[in-house]
Amino acid sequence: KLGSGVYDYLPLGLRSLQKVAAIIREEMAAAGAVEVLLPAIVPIELYKRTGRDEAYGDNLFRLTDRHGREQALGPTHEEVITELVGAYVESYRQLPLTLYQIQTKFRDEFRPRFGVLRSREFLMKDAYSFHTRVEGEGGLDETYQKQYDAYCRIFDRCGLTYEIVEAESGPIGGSASHEFMIPSPTGEDTILKSDTGNYAANVEKCEIGMRDHDLDGAPTGEIKEIATPDCSSIDDLCMNWPKFSGSHLKPKHVLKTLVYHVEGDLTASEQETKDKLRSLYGDQVSDEKFHFYCLAVVRGDHEINEAKLKEAWLEIHGREMKPLRDNPGPRLMDEKEAIAAGFSVGYVGPHAIHAVPDSTRMRTYLVVDPDAAQSQFWVAGANKDGYHCVNFNWKRDIEWHANHHPFHIKDIRNAIDGDPAPAERGGGVLRETKGIEVGHVFKLGCKYSDAMNVSVLDENNQQQSIIMGCYGIGVNRILAAAIERDGGNDDNGIVWPGSIAPFQVLITPIKYQGALLYFNDTLATEIERMQSPTSPKAFFHPDVLIDDRDERPGVKFKDADLVGIPVRITIGDKALADGCVEIKARNGSNGPKGELVPVEKAAARVIELLGQV
Ligand code: ATP
Ligand code: MG
Repeated sequence: KLGSGVYDYLPLGLRSLQKVAAIIREEMAAAGAVEVLLPAIVPIELYKRTGRDEAYGDNLFRLTDRHGREQALGPTHEEVITELVGAYVESYRQLPLTLYQIQTKFRDEFRPRFGVLRSREFLMKDAYSFHTRVEGEGGLDETYQKQYDAYCRIFDRCGLTYEIVEAESGPIGGSASHEFMIPSPTGEDTILKSDTGNYAANVEKCEIGMRDHDLDGAPTGEIKEIATPDCSSIDDLCMNWPKFSGSHLKPKHVLKTLVYHVEGDLTASEQETKDKLRSLYGDQVSDEKFHFYCLAVVRGDHEINEAKLKEAWLEIHGREMKPLRDNPGPRLMDEKEAIAAGFSVGYVGPHAIHAVPDSTRMRTYLVVDPDAAQSQFWVAGANKDGYHCVNFNWKRDIEWHANHHPFHIKDIRNAIDGDPAPAERGGGVLRETKGIEVGHVFKLGCKYSDAMNVSVLDENNQQQSIIMGCYGIGVNRILAAAIERDGGNDDNGIVWPGSIAPFQVLITPIKYQGALLYFNDTLATEIERMQSPTSPKAFFHPDVLIDDRDERPGVKFKDADLVGIPVRITIGDKALADGCVEIKARNGSNGPKGELVPVEKAAARVIELLGQV
């Protein structure tokens, strides 16, 4: 480690990294992708054109050159490649086209972690495809599938077990994005998989099956304010509750109400859109802009999912309206803003829609998760600093507005273990695990080409937007994931999969001199000439490393385990006198002590063992 999130590669690590890159290159070629190399230094204007200078925020490394021009160090290269394609591709006849590179990416990660798993400078394979249509021959769907299949082969060949999950899909919607995840407790992504095996998704995207709600039940008692000073978080509230009320309180009995804000520009919108919005929200929609507050309510032990909140916002107000679709959706308000609008931040309850000033009330809609839309005992914020209320009841304590639609029940929370899976995806129960994202395929649509004005002439000589896909793999992260995966390490060190181990075979001579030296080298050459299968269709010549250091055997064995080369051959006088060498698989497949193998069968046995790692 040289600094936070930056690493040197030593000779063995570098070999593994290059092996991963070689597998990726072979499979990209097989999928019809062509390699390019784009610069790491990118003029900031390119990112400004798509708004990603802001979207990436502090993760974007920026630098100013000696002429005062602002540059970025590329975190990914959609803009650069779109610019390149715009310069060379003019006609639909030149498409489809898939380009990729393996290149260093820079991201000023907030929390670089677990070594090269999340670093600030890393190698990514990023591929981009360009099309004039989504479906059919040469369309985006076809290339997406090719890349998806190539990813499966790449991770298979790297010896990794993976899950493919649906991920946040952005502008195209549907199942337009998949992530490839290596299950591991160190993983930073939460994935949910139905126990029927038909549905798997990142928590960011995971849908939850039908849940009932009940708003009509009788109150559990009179609504009463209780002083709860300095308890603006649910944890603090529950911890201190006995002090306030003499009883215990669990987060699942608290309503968590967060204040969001959506605003948008209408200057360029059609009159029809403005009218439609106005019919829902009256004169809070002007000809120039709209702005709403959103109170999002979930159970205290649940987390709001902001992508779902945006979905809910579209469903409620009309997905067909472009200014709404293009809008980033509800944004959590910071404390100052929310207070200025009349909300008692930290102590907000759903009935805030009656407590805030008139102007705010008219602009507020309420979205409630089904698990929070129940008739049961609730503690909620009292809409007064330092106070909560008990016995909140939906039917009694929320006034229903007839003239607009402020109240909606929608799935707006993260799925958790035990939730129902969506029925239309095969049903069952969702189970939660942690995963490391090693790859991501994504249907981008026209987001970048439109923003950058890149189009082609179609069959009728008309300009047409280019439709894009993008496909990324973390090359270093594959190494980290191979080690973090189940079976990828033990107390003594790394257990590499055969295909990406720095060397496949390690020969440890007890003494490396005289006749033994000659024997060693001959065996090494014999093994290197053989072919070893790793996974279907991928054969390679194993690389053999000889530990010729003048160290005690104990030291050599310890280091051998630490670096994790799949097969170790120990050559000592005693066994050799009986015509044998000792062969031991690092993953323990031929026992903790390994086996004695006659010299003439040694090479064949090594290949056999390599076939199993
Ligand atoms: P994450 O959610 O882990 O930050 P991401 O979704 O932002 O990753 P993408 O933009 O999809 O990452 O990048 C493509 C691939 O690059 C990821 O699937 C991952 O394997 C790899 N990658 C992303 N960030 C890093 C990093 N900081 N260090 C190492 N590899 C990374
Ligand atoms: Mg990703």
